[in-house]
Amino acid sequence: MRLPWILALMTLSASCGSHKEEPVSEQKWMTGAGPARGHEDITRLAVDRANDALQGQIGYRPYPSIAKGVAGIDTGNAMVRGNFETDFPSRRMKEFHKMPDNVDWHNDGRIQHIHSLRDFAGGQPLGLRDSCVAIRTNILDAARQAIASYQAGHTEDGQYWLGHAAHVIQDSFSPAHSERHGAGRQLIGNICVYGIDVPGLCKHDSVDVRDRIWRSKFSCQMDPNNRGYSCLKDEAQDAVNATAAFLVNAGGAIFAGKALDESLQGYFACESLSP
Ligand SMILES: [Zn+2]
Repeated sequence: MRLPWILALMTLSASCGSHKEEPVSEQKWMTGAGPARGHEDITRLAVDRANDALQGQIGYRPYPSIAKGVAGIDTGNAMVRGNFETDFPSRRMKEFHKMPDNVDWHNDGRIQHIHSLRDFAGGQPLGLRDSCVAIRTNILDAARQAIASYQAGHTEDGQYWLGHAAHVIQDSFSPAHSERHGAGRQLIGNICVYGIDVPGLCKHDSVDVRDRIWRSKFSCQMDPNNRGYSCLKDEAQDAVNATAAFLVNAGGAIFAGKALDESLQGYFACESLSP
């Protein structure tokens, strides 16, 4: 799956020398090495949708739109930064999760839920329902922090924590992290592990091609500017919709004084899962 894509990029760069391609790693929405390109595009499309919906409620578009091609590592957009730093944590992110500076962010069993994976201890993964609750709690904690920050006038901080929550939601739509089903993939079927082997349980490999978000259609692969909704794989489209729903939900609390829907619109119905 990976090799033809690399070859395609090489062909493209050979045929038009001045053209600058996105690195191959930008096609992923994974934790681990490489910029979290996929998350940025999913968030960009979700912000547009959330702004559309919120404009109808409050009369303006509250979230700064995200430019195409923005990269988390050097962005001025706080929502993209909070999203990006979920995989590449700053001090601020580590403190939020009460982790020491030298934490092994990607491998520590206590903080796998940050990527919608199962936490583990002593080689034993957390049960399905508790894993779901840990993920949902993370999203709600970030949402509450965002609401408090906006209320205190700290807009940048508010956007940052919305971006963090969005990342956790988005990871739960990657088949390498969680299994979802039903209309819009609203229902969680399973939550996978990373870094340990558990017989019978789905596993996120350290470089996992299932993290890719773009369709393999010729036009979606060959044209790096073709980064619209229609080029997203089904699960990535569902991730856009879930992220937009969350941003509308949180936006209702931030900008219209509504109560936060703590069920997260049914995307984390943990109580119905087996322990
Ligand atoms: Zn992640």
